[in-house]
Amino acid sequence: MGSFVGFANLPNQVHRKSVRRGFQFVTMVVGDSGLGKSTLINTLFEHKLYDLNAPRSLANGSSLNGNANGRTIAIESKSADIEENGVRLKLTVVDTPGFGDFVNNDEAWKPIVDNIDSRFDAYLEQENRVNRSKLMDNRVHACIYFIQPTGHSLRPIDIEFMRKLHHKVNLIPVIAKADTLTDDEVVAFKQRVSIFQAFNKVHQRVIVAYFLLSPSTQILNDIAHNQISIFQPPIYDLEDEETIAENEEIQSKVPFAVVGSDTFVTTADGRQVRGRSYPWGTIEVDNEAHCDFIKLRQMLIHTHMEELREYTNDVLYEQYRTQKLLSMGV
Ligand code: GDP
Ligand code: MG
Repeated sequence: MGSFVGFANLPNQVHRKSVRRGFQFVTMVVGDSGLGKSTLINTLFEHKLYDLNAPRSLANGSSLNGNANGRTIAIESKSADIEENGVRLKLTVVDTPGFGDFVNNDEAWKPIVDNIDSRFDAYLEQENRVNRSKLMDNRVHACIYFIQPTGHSLRPIDIEFMRKLHHKVNLIPVIAKADTLTDDEVVAFKQRVSIFQAFNKVHQRVIVAYFLLSPSTQILNDIAHNQISIFQPPIYDLEDEETIAENEEIQSKVPFAVVGSDTFVTTADGRQVRGRSYPWGTIEVDNEAHCDFIKLRQMLIHTHMEELREYTNDVLYEQYRTQKLLSMGV
């Protein structure tokens, strides 16, 4: 496996020369403990941002990534400078406490919203300085939301979370640990989770309404209530047919059924691949026939990283800023 992550394509995504300064990209991961968040981050960036083999308790005490059980107990961010073909990326991953970890999960979204807001505030504060030539962009550009593979549909807590967050961040839902589902289950799952697509004229974004499978009379209500805007590669304003087809292909995979693994295993035919071995065979991370990991990585890093940054700046941050200033009576 080559260690080509794909962000070296950023200058092409940007069409301008900010290569020397490097790029900042902040991604947040949210979902229950043990759904594979740390593993997927390592798999995506081919970087051992998280030491998955670290003793989960013991001497090194407050291990970087959590308490004695290896759980993340507070919102933590980690950064790494990665370079690829002369392009520098400052990657920050914001890890959040697992949802299921609290006795009362009612407001599990709140510290996460607060974190996103405070990053917006920090940016706003920089903009108000006299010298604003070097703005640090620590706003969250993408939020990968891990859906449990076991429930086979969204839980109320998932909907609640996405509804609270979708106006503030580019939401990217994934079905975690897709290797624990059969192919049929993945298809059925996706049908249940993402059914209704319509166009949002205001922002020209695709809106996907999520709803729990419920008696049909309930469905329209649910759609009306749960209209959740998630990030999709835009297909409007594109002339290039190839790109349109590519973006439609990515859209069709949402929510991405992902498998994470940063260790290599040997397949039955003797290839070394990143994957997970089972008595009946190997699930390969980097094989599109096995899971949607490649598509997720393509969108997040290779083709739409700049789109995610731009939308964060032009739309999400702008909305936040306007509201904030209005509330301050400015
Ligand atoms: P986190 O708590 O969400 O950060 O989860 P971790 O990344 O620490 O993973 C928890 C456990 O799930 C570890 O034992 C991983 O090896 C395992 N795991 C991670 N990703 C996958 C996956 O895609 N499939 C399966 N079957 N197990 C996974
Ligand atoms: Mg973790």
